Amino acid sequence: AALKAAAAKSKEAAEAGAPTVFDKIIAKQIPSTVVFEDDKVLAFRDISPQAPVHIIIIPKERDGLTQLSKAEERHTEILGHLMVTAAVVAKQEGLVDGFRLVVNDGPQGSQSVYHLHLHLIGGRQMNWPPG
Ligand code: AMP
Repeated sequence: AALKAAAAKSKEAAEAGAPTVFDKIIAKQIPSTVVFEDDKVLAFRDISPQAPVHIIIIPKERDGLTQLSKAEERHTEILGHLMVTAAVVAKQEGLVDGFRLVVNDGPQGSQSVYHLHLHLIGGRQMNWPPG
């Protein structure tokens, strides 16, 4: 319940334009293990990995994309770039037998950080359906 309340609060703050923890990671104000970076995207290891490989891939410019459901026509290019980055990073991580890409959206999607991100998860057998 406390986690849900915290997530709801950070959702409101991010929608009002406040930075999230990912902005601090982009600005290198807090440490992270970066595995891929270019001028548009950043990929770093999740602090609470759910599998042997668990990487977060984000756009450096949030541009209103607090969550995927806010996507508009102008976001098409960056969303495509994020997907291609996932494929590049999966290869770099040696995930030759496959992986899973996850986008949590909103409270029911269990989203906690309101800066759009892909979870690249792999290195073990995944199950379906997810929890
Ligand atoms: P979500 O629940 O989809 O919003 O995912 C947010 C993810 O960000 C979670 O898997 C967290 O473990 C991860 N995370 C939060 N803070 C950090 C951090 N400082 N460094 C790396 N990953 C983080």
